[in-house]
Amino acid sequence: MGNSRLVFIAIGAIIGIGVAFAAVYNFQDQEIQQVSVSAINEEKFLPYGTTSFMYPGEPVPADEMRVTVFGSGWGFVRPGQADQSIFVELGNGDSFVFDLGEGSEANYMAMHVPYSKMSKLFITHLHMDHMGGIPHMYAFGPVGDRFTPLEIYGPSGTSSDLGLEYAIEGMKQYTNWNVISFKAALPASDGFDINVHELDYTLNPGVAYDKNGVLITHFPGAHSIDGAINYRLEWNGLCVIIPTDTNPTTWDVENGKDCDLIFHEVGPSPEIYAKNLDVPVAAAQMIVDSSHTSPTAFGKIFSQTQPRLAVVTHTVENADTIMPIIDAIRIYYDGPLAVASDMTVFNISKDEITQRTAIGPDLPWTNTLIPTPDTDPELDIHDYKTQNTFDHIIPKCEDAEDGQLCY
Ligand SMILES: [Zn+2]
Ligand SMILES: [Zn+2]
Repeated sequence: MGNSRLVFIAIGAIIGIGVAFAAVYNFQDQEIQQVSVSAINEEKFLPYGTTSFMYPGEPVPADEMRVTVFGSGWGFVRPGQADQSIFVELGNGDSFVFDLGEGSEANYMAMHVPYSKMSKLFITHLHMDHMGGIPHMYAFGPVGDRFTPLEIYGPSGTSSDLGLEYAIEGMKQYTNWNVISFKAALPASDGFDINVHELDYTLNPGVAYDKNGVLITHFPGAHSIDGAINYRLEWNGLCVIIPTDTNPTTWDVENGKDCDLIFHEVGPSPEIYAKNLDVPVAAAQMIVDSSHTSPTAFGKIFSQTQPRLAVVTHTVENADTIMPIIDAIRIYYDGPLAVASDMTVFNISKDEITQRTAIGPDLPWTNTLIPTPDTDPELDIHDYKTQNTFDHIIPKCEDAEDGQLCY
């Protein structure tokens, strides 16, 4: 484990004018104590330089791991904060999507991540802020460049109707019209096939994936109901942990040993949550307590695991939320700490961990790396479209009969 002294804290990106800031704070000589927001003064914050951005198309160095947060939010989708998704790319060319919460797919597109690089998907639990983006990514992937089956990994439940297989069967029904319509129009491929890998949520740990030098294990979380799992990915002597929604657990502590970069969720302060929603504090407290981790508990966990970098994610990122979270974390934990925003990027090597912000266009085209296969559609469009519809289509004038409305 390294002992990096700098703590990088992303405090937000003002997307409209394209400006991002970061805080750099040296905690080496600080006592661990709770400080008020007003005690955080300006001199502790430095602006990012131009080298602190990542643009689309940057390769991953051969011996590094790159982790990009494409969704840092919790529950409610916002223009500035998509629901949870974390993308892990390895120097050997492998890539893994962890959760695909609502809204996050747009950030993958902004960074020109092709659908073919999103074909291995690991779900932490079956809440829609972690899997709401899957139906679209599944259905439109073959319109981009995913011509191989979607491999989806995720937890079992306490009964079969609460597990991943059941959920994906339902998604196949939900997307059936979409899939048939594309299969009748697009070159045939295996892109609409899905291989479901349901993982026993009770295992601590269980092996989710073990190929090509990449080991992904999973361990349980304590959500409102059972069936939530965290993932730990190890490759080339490097390690990252992707979190589920969970109350603080001893599983976090056991499985967080000897890992370089560990994400963990943090629930918002019930008081701030209640104030902003104008609901009783008790109601906000109930939601936070049901499935989430307070920043104080986050600090306790990381005081035990001591990673090279601890990262807050799946939280509400607003001007009045982040500094109180950091204050409360610092009650127990004085090690390296970052707060992930959408588009926060970490490069992990054996020597250092760097933090940047990914910058891509708001109006990207879908990135297609592989030429479209030169094959006919799998289905015949005439089996699904009646002559009556063809008769109502306004033709081009060169194809029109005399007197027929045309263009
Ligand atoms: Zn969640
Ligand atoms: Zn959840």
